[in-house]
Amino acid sequence: MTTDSKTIPATLIAGDGIGPEIVESVTEILDTVGAPFVWDRQLAGMAGVDAVNDPLPKQTIESIRRTGLALKGPLTTPVGGGFKSINVTLRQEFGLFANLRPTKTIIPGGRFDDIDLVLFRENLEGYYAAMEHYIPVGDDPKGIALSSGFNSRAECRRIVKFAFEYAVKNNRKTVTIVHKANILKLLTGLFLEEGRKVAEEYKGRIEFNERIVDACAMQLVINPWQFDVIVTTNLFGDILSDLTAGLVGGLGMAPGANIGEKAAVFEAVHGSAPDIAGKGIANPLALLLAAVMMLRHVNRNDLADRIDAGIKKVITNGTVRTKDLGGNATTKDLTAALKQAVA
Ligand code: ATP
Ligand code: MG
Repeated sequence: MTTDSKTIPATLIAGDGIGPEIVESVTEILDTVGAPFVWDRQLAGMAGVDAVNDPLPKQTIESIRRTGLALKGPLTTPVGGGFKSINVTLRQEFGLFANLRPTKTIIPGGRFDDIDLVLFRENLEGYYAAMEHYIPVGDDPKGIALSSGFNSRAECRRIVKFAFEYAVKNNRKTVTIVHKANILKLLTGLFLEEGRKVAEEYKGRIEFNERIVDACAMQLVINPWQFDVIVTTNLFGDILSDLTAGLVGGLGMAPGANIGEKAAVFEAVHGSAPDIAGKGIANPLALLLAAVMMLRHVNRNDLADRIDAGIKKVITNGTVRTKDLGGNATTKDLTAALKQAVA
């Protein structure tokens, strides 16, 4: 166990919708275990628009550049006004090429027990970096929409290598590359081609599988235990990670990390959940699990293990659960129970 008492500067973004509620909950729990983070609180999303008419203010970018580390609540991209998705902008600004989304069963007796898989989503290219066009043809009913995404060999290699390296470091056995090279022959064919080359370097150490995305979706529902580490392109990763979240209790339980060479941003997979914002019933566990990933990222596995154990204790006990988990506890109830469990 580390007894490291060094403080670590980190950027904290409360975000929109349920963001401020779950961020408050998570920082309280982090404080309870004596987490080393010294927060530099910054604005983004609608909060940024309201304050300085910018969903991603310069100051926020500079803060992340300085700290190289951020915990962020969900951000809403304002509709209209020509704002590009802030999450996408943030990933591109800092070259956060890897989106790591672990799926682990915490709630016992659910539909799927003992699930423990990790999905890596390529974060900078594919259809998320698409040039989209609308081509009017004569009368509008004849118009055509056109989208051209791109993948580069270098980025395909980098993300697949990152997944294999993760597998090696975390004693994982298998990496599955998910693609649609039978239809998107070039766009995802390139991903598969580069992925196979990378897999070759790990031969004998890490087992390698390939799956077409549609078959993978079905297999994830029929037999998710066959998967260990999955690596896939941007859009497929977006869709499959919502699916895997659904295996273990839904979006309220799904954390994510965006990792680049110089910065890492930790977040919940879910959005701002405007339908329940301000009601005090949001589940803070997805963001708390993201904070646990952040602790592991800075080598504080001791504190991460403590919070993991606390979550397990509270959830297994089953008396304090938020509405999305079938209970009637408020965010504050759950936070109090978690604080007690980790103290
Ligand atoms: P956004 O546009 O910001 O993505 P959204 O409308 O897509 O918002 P999500 O946040 O993606 O909403 O959530 C989808 C559904 O899951 C909503 O009904 C929401 O209430 C629920 N949900 C998401 N996160 C949580 C959470 N942490 N706790 C409880 N329910 C949640
Ligand atoms: Mg959403």
